[in-house]
Amino acid sequence: MRKGELRLYDTRTGEKKVVKPLRGDNIIRMYICGPTVYDYSHIGHFKTFITYDSLVRLLKYLGYDVIHVVNITDIDDKIINRANEEGVSYRDISEKYTEDFLEIWKKLNMLPPYALPRATYHIHDMIDIIEKLIKDGYAYSADGNVYFSVSKSMGYGEISKQKIEELIRGYRVEEGPGKRDKLDFALWKKSKEGEPSWKSPWGDGRPGWHIECTAMSSRFLDPPFEIHGGGEDLKFPHHENERAQTNAYIGGEAVYIWMHVGILKFAKEKMSKSLGNIITMKEMLKEFSPDLIRLIILSTHYRKQLEYSDEKIEEVKNILRRIKRVHKKLMDYRDYGYGGEMDIDDYRMRFIAELLDDFNTASALNVFMSFIDKLESSIDNKKLSKEDVTNAMALMEEFKYIYGLTFEDEAKLDDELIELIVEVRSELRKRKIYEVADMIRDRLKEMGIVLEDMGEKTIYYRV
Ligand SMILES: [Zn+2]
Repeated sequence: MRKGELRLYDTRTGEKKVVKPLRGDNIIRMYICGPTVYDYSHIGHFKTFITYDSLVRLLKYLGYDVIHVVNITDIDDKIINRANEEGVSYRDISEKYTEDFLEIWKKLNMLPPYALPRATYHIHDMIDIIEKLIKDGYAYSADGNVYFSVSKSMGYGEISKQKIEELIRGYRVEEGPGKRDKLDFALWKKSKEGEPSWKSPWGDGRPGWHIECTAMSSRFLDPPFEIHGGGEDLKFPHHENERAQTNAYIGGEAVYIWMHVGILKFAKEKMSKSLGNIITMKEMLKEFSPDLIRLIILSTHYRKQLEYSDEKIEEVKNILRRIKRVHKKLMDYRDYGYGGEMDIDDYRMRFIAELLDDFNTASALNVFMSFIDKLESSIDNKKLSKEDVTNAMALMEEFKYIYGLTFEDEAKLDDELIELIVEVRSELRKRKIYEVADMIRDRLKEMGIVLEDMGEKTIYYRV
């Protein structure tokens, strides 16, 4: 049985809609606009991806099967420029930063998506769709380029809440030879000197940016589908154009809920210098645990802007410390049991209710922290029954799962402590107690600390 109905805010209609499988099966299909791989991933990008990862986790917790697709834009002006600057191929650039993106995805304890398609592997799908759009009168070719006719589409501007006239005024419209209307946008771009190109019915060229998402969402999710996600900076032109194309292609509304995640802002003046430099996820992960990063992101409602500052980091560090402390106390306490006084199900109900109301991970975290405080005082006062302990453990696990935390990663062995262990081990070796010395070496290796014996001396390093 379901634990309740999830409502999510749909940017297009401005309503909170009940999430339900459109086909009447048990599957929620979700498409998320992924990274353009021309540089190292940034905390700002991962605000979006962590949000959707937790949403997938919530949907699974609620009992749905989830098919979620995250595309990788591996061909784009920025990638080509970067490749030209460095004198390498666009593939070298896109592969390098795709690898970075996937590594970070894994480190952050993100669930593997159903598919992570790369745009250049779906050029044939894009060409098929463009051909149909031309045939149906939504697109036209001009001198090796193909454009989408915005005037033919219904409801253009609904996602970004703009009128077409405002769009023309406010947006630096890309010029193009043979374009009939200012707002028309490229589906296919004629090849230029020094750029990668593919064969097509309109001559050699490459796809426009927006068509890739129509192609890959159609390929994997067979629209209409339930949820389309991305950062709020993608509302216009990307999502507006993507919607126009996909709707024209399938002849109906392709997406039930358009979700947008607020951006992350650096509170620069408040940031210490060292932290101000930690912008790439690669650097951040050297300094902070995945748990901390995830909780920073999820401690603000996803639609709001998140102000990233030293204070924010400290605040969330404290929250995490409190949770882990009580988690450990609960583990130590689990074999005991006294008279109970906690209504844990009430906390669970309120916790889930916040998540069900437009995925409010911030309010749900507040409820969870009130549970943590109460739990700690119940443990300290020995007022927790065995049944309560089991139920509290379960709620901890539910929280951990939905927020994607591990509780594992912050306890790093202190250097002084390692040196002490190394010293004790050297002493054991001198006395030829090799079995115990080897055991210590093996156990440390499991913790990511490698010992190397150089004659009498032993050095160590972290991996
Ligand atoms: Zn997209």
